[in-house]
Amino acid sequence: MSETHPIGAFIICDQGLDLRLQTVQRLGLSTAQILAPPASGRNETQIKELKRKFADTNVNITVVFCGFPGESYADIPTVIQTVGLVPEATRAERLQEAKEISDFAASMGVDAVGLHIGFIPEEADHPIYPQVLHVARELCDYCAGNGQRVHLETGQETAEALLRFFNDVERDNLAINFDPANMILYGSGEPIPALKRVGKHVKSVHCKDGKWAANPGSEWGEEVPLGEGDVNMELFLRTLKEIGYTGPLTIEREIAGEDQARDIERGVRLLRHLVTQIWEE
Ligand code: MG
Repeated sequence: MSETHPIGAFIICDQGLDLRLQTVQRLGLSTAQILAPPASGRNETQIKELKRKFADTNVNITVVFCGFPGESYADIPTVIQTVGLVPEATRAERLQEAKEISDFAASMGVDAVGLHIGFIPEEADHPIYPQVLHVARELCDYCAGNGQRVHLETGQETAEALLRFFNDVERDNLAINFDPANMILYGSGEPIPALKRVGKHVKSVHCKDGKWAANPGSEWGEEVPLGEGDVNMELFLRTLKEIGYTGPLTIEREIAGEDQARDIERGVRLLRHLVTQIWEE
């Protein structure tokens, strides 16, 4: 298997971490993206312990993702109201927490911080748009001070809106974590053409699959195991090759427990097969 495309998994650092790391190790994965622990889990002793666990399993953390208290993914309208740095009522405190997560990531030796920034308005004259630009710049500048990139998780906006946002933020350390399934789940456009359009900004990816909703954009699509949805994993990887992507292929499966471990294992098998076929043909 090509060393330039290490397969990884997205893992949450809660009380189930040891079990998840065992799975990652059993599957022979060398990378992971993690969801940052809550503030109560980021003191010096806890950071030391986390570092030891990842070092012991030889798993390299490639992106630390921010999650914020009060976020809910119950349905699309709730995501708009509660997720990321867009909602005004929580913006200042979440920006502060994102900076603290940047510091946490720095002490873990990680050079990228990821987040769902929230729904970026499709219209540049939307009253909230300049505010979102401002908060994105402030986070980018703070992370630049820690030698880090900021990876925006895709899904909630079209490729066009995302590209315009990148041009308007004007920060070199702003990048994309491309999640093809999210585009389907949120109904924000066909993922493969979108990947081609935003490709130059893509520095990390989620290998995740999903099925379109009956009414895309107003209701959720369904997240399914890798290879069973509408993404077309082979075409996704071929397109990554086409845009010159050489980073990790991080499997994200947003369920819990043994079912998650089983689906990640199947996902690893599928990716290894495709990587061999596509990059070594
Ligand atoms: Mg994702």
